[in-house]
Amino acid sequence: MIEVRSDLTFLSGYHSPQVDVEVRLNTNESPLPPPQAFVDDLAARLHDIKWNRYPDRTATALRSAVAERHQRDPGGVFLANGSNEVLQTVALTYAGTGRTVVCFEPGYQMHAQIARVSGATVATLDRRSDFTLDPGAVREFLASTDPSVVFLTSPNNPTGMSEPIEMVDLILDSCGALLVVDEAYAEFGRWSAIPMIADDRPLVVSRTFSKTWSMAAARLGYLVGPEAIVANLWNTVLPYHLDSVTQLAGLVALSHVEEMDQRVASIVSERERLTTRLDALGARVVPSDANFVLFSPRGGNASATWSSLVSRGVLVRDCSNWRGLSGWLRVTVGTPSENDRFIEALKESRNG
Ligand code: PMP
Repeated sequence: MIEVRSDLTFLSGYHSPQVDVEVRLNTNESPLPPPQAFVDDLAARLHDIKWNRYPDRTATALRSAVAERHQRDPGGVFLANGSNEVLQTVALTYAGTGRTVVCFEPGYQMHAQIARVSGATVATLDRRSDFTLDPGAVREFLASTDPSVVFLTSPNNPTGMSEPIEMVDLILDSCGALLVVDEAYAEFGRWSAIPMIADDRPLVVSRTFSKTWSMAAARLGYLVGPEAIVANLWNTVLPYHLDSVTQLAGLVALSHVEEMDQRVASIVSERERLTTRLDALGARVVPSDANFVLFSPRGGNASATWSSLVSRGVLVRDCSNWRGLSGWLRVTVGTPSENDRFIEALKESRNG
């Protein structure tokens, strides 16, 4: 039997357990479907798709629409099937065998996995116990590891915390790496690194349609950066990787910005309500800038609380065996009634 590549044998993949429950608050999706007007528009325009033809290879129309949204040139936008594929293309292009990728933990686990699959060595710097990065330690770590790519997530998953914006300059000033700021949750947060992008800085920003745009099913993500860097990504990615339906879905979504913005506002206000209620139940809660909240249930027995929530029909993410997260669970902000169900189940778990 052919063996798996020897440098990949330790990989277990990234899977969120999918248990059949009524309230699913474990994968940071939008709790709402996209607006009906979006679905109707998309359905009507599906008739225009030329099914016998390959898609527009560089997604010209969608690229222009994304560029316009961020006041950038279309040449500085790359698109792929979810931001995971965007990140993978970055790793294949700028990491790979013989190069080092720096990740910060706790952080988004796929960064390290994608880097390893590309053949790169991963160097991980742990955050402090309050989940912040120590600027001095970051500087030293970058100097000693000399990475080709650094992944920084803001707001961070699974902590929900925004990085101080100064961290972007600090990283760029400390090494010659390509800095990838993963902004999968930026629409729920306070700042974006997109205005900091410049032709002479190795800084790119990745975003997704999976959360804010209620479009996790479509698999669409993008990256904004200097044109010279972006051009290399288009050279690496497979031809016709982004199908015509996904391109159209993105384009139609960008004509419903107002409804999407309203959704973000309502999720942010639910997030604040959820945080207050968790606090009142005696949980330790990390103030979040994302569409999820990291918390440690009173008593700190995260796995027992997770099971007890599942038995009451509520699924959250058990992070307690992730590096640096012993005792912590992550709950995605749902609809008001889903959040109420979660809080009630948590109360019962505490008493039970
Ligand atoms: N980055 C971060 C930080 C995420 O949490 C996620 C989703 N879990 C992604 C990227 C990938 O999102 P998608 O591939 O759906 O765009």
